Amino acid sequence: MTPPSNNSAPSLPETPLAAPTGLLQRLPQSLLRTRFLVYLTLLLTLAGMALGQRMSERTSMQQLAAVAAERLELYAGSLEAELARHAYLPSLMAIDADLQALLVSPEDTTVRLRADRKLAGIKVRSGLSLSFVTDAEGRVLASSEPQTAAAEAVVRRLGAHLRSSHAHFFAANEHNGSTDYFLLHNISRAGRPLGQIVLRLNLAPLEATWVDQGLRSQGEKLLVVDDKEVVIMSSVPAWKYRLLSELSAAERDELQTSGRYAGPLRGALNLFGDDGLHDEARVVNVPMLQNPAAPEASSPPPEGKAESTQKLLAQQRALLPLALRLVTLSDPAEVWRQARYAAWGGAAVGALIGLLALYLASRRRAHDQLLQASEALRLAHAQLEAQVAERTQELSQTNQELKRQIAQRLQAEDELMQAAKLAVLGQMSAGIAHEVNQPLTALRALSRNSLLLLEKGRTDSVGNNLRTIDEMVERMTGITRQLKSFARKAELVQAPVSLASAVRGAKLLLEHRLQAEQVDFVLSPELDQVWVRCEPNRLEQVLVNLFANAVDAMKDAPHKRLAVSSAALPESDGRRVLLRVSDSGAGMAADLLPRLFEPFFTTKPAGQGLGLGLVISSKIIHEFGGSLRAHVRPADQGGGMCFEFDLEVCTRDGINV
Ligand code: ADP
Repeated sequence: MTPPSNNSAPSLPETPLAAPTGLLQRLPQSLLRTRFLVYLTLLLTLAGMALGQRMSERTSMQQLAAVAAERLELYAGSLEAELARHAYLPSLMAIDADLQALLVSPEDTTVRLRADRKLAGIKVRSGLSLSFVTDAEGRVLASSEPQTAAAEAVVRRLGAHLRSSHAHFFAANEHNGSTDYFLLHNISRAGRPLGQIVLRLNLAPLEATWVDQGLRSQGEKLLVVDDKEVVIMSSVPAWKYRLLSELSAAERDELQTSGRYAGPLRGALNLFGDDGLHDEARVVNVPMLQNPAAPEASSPPPEGKAESTQKLLAQQRALLPLALRLVTLSDPAEVWRQARYAAWGGAAVGALIGLLALYLASRRRAHDQLLQASEALRLAHAQLEAQVAERTQELSQTNQELKRQIAQRLQAEDELMQAAKLAVLGQMSAGIAHEVNQPLTALRALSRNSLLLLEKGRTDSVGNNLRTIDEMVERMTGITRQLKSFARKAELVQAPVSLASAVRGAKLLLEHRLQAEQVDFVLSPELDQVWVRCEPNRLEQVLVNLFANAVDAMKDAPHKRLAVSSAALPESDGRRVLLRVSDSGAGMAADLLPRLFEPFFTTKPAGQGLGLGLVISSKIIHEFGGSLRAHVRPADQGGGMCFEFDLEVCTRDGINV
């Protein structure tokens, strides 16, 4: 019968659960996908930014161009209307009788005076700045001014233009640099030129309204360019009499000497680059204006220093009858500001789409992973369950085996205990026979003696004999009762037991030996007060064993003393009591002490000891919740051995202390 060792206890296998390999394989793939989606998000953000910016810029530019075109129409309309208002005047004046008379009789002072008055009247009524009549040679015959000096100055400066075939032209005012519009009408009779009517309209008021508008709306600038590419009117005074693009020195000199432009022609604006101005609206680089109202503000920068520019939307419209071009320059700052917003908006939309894709992908991935994880978990669970079922079956088999072994061991122990008892009984039987024989002999003698005494009529003595007989019978009954209960296989039913009575019961069983060996049996008086919870028969069995061993050990001792005492077990708060059995015997060698509680360890001669007494006693005490210990007593304390064990203290009524 091999008791199950700890090693044989079943343990769960070390086999790892199946790893979710699919999950691991998919990891780099999902990382790649995430990286791709991140790049896609960035790309979408940039694309959204570019698209938003481009669309917004195009739409807003178109709107700005449409507004500029509308304004251009208005400017052109107002200029044409202003000029058209006076277009009929020269021809009307040509049929005037006074002026015709003047050309016929230029020497007649009266006629000249009448013509002067007429010209002055026309000038005032029609808002002209000057009107005069010249003869065919260009001499001033009559003028709207009191003096003809102003007219003569004009003839001197612009004679070439006056003699040209043009009906009108523009020229700078020699006094204030404003723009003058000249209307001409040649008068001839019978194919012979008689003279010319010259009207001068100053456009400063119209220009002033443009300058005013330009100052009020920083966003839009207006230029009027003549057929020589010179800015003759502008809402920006600084640009006036500047060339649109650079000319050769000869061309510049020719323009300079034409007398049409006041002062020297200033540097070219170079507004439209090499390919010039197109009909459709386009963004051009325009010299930056610090103070647009100051004419010198946009004077060309010093040599070698680049002129700072700003980007403006340019649009032009030709005024063909006047050989002019109107150019508007609108500031697209608002367009670009909106385009910037649109770019951010586009970027946000792009990023949103990208992030949405990223979110959906990550959600899908998380869902996939969840499915895989739950599948792996399910597999692991199933594996675990199978393993647990297998191990449970093994465990229950082992359990059954253990139970069977325990039952066998208990039975063996029972049998051993009984055998040990019988062995003690066997040992005691001689003593008991002696114990019983003596009283029996005495009884026989007493009863015969009593019969004789009865015959003699000594009833008193008979009574004494009968009392002695009764005591002896009682004593024998005690021994047999003790033997009966000792031999019986008692169930472990714990009850309050008096320590003193248990010790006395055990002593009674060994009385014959104690007397034969003349052992001095000392029972401490405090034992009478102590009650313990245990099974009385088994306690007596332990005590009988200890007493018998002590008597054996004291066989050759000069003084045989067997003492039984008690003391409270330290650190038990008085709940347990320690019972000591000490003898003055031979004791034993210290190296044998550890073997004392080994089964079948005995130093007694064969046939006298089994080596089971202490093993069984220790087990009984263990069942009572205590432990049996032994130590060799020092020589100065009388030598011998001391056995001690602890028991649970209770009251006589079985109440716990
Ligand atoms: P047995 O009495 O059958 O030998 P026990 O288990 O009762 O078996 O005792 C085992 C051994 O312990 C004894 O053989 C004896 O050598 C020793 N022993 C027991 N009690 C004493 C004692 N009081 N003094 C000396 N030796 C003892």
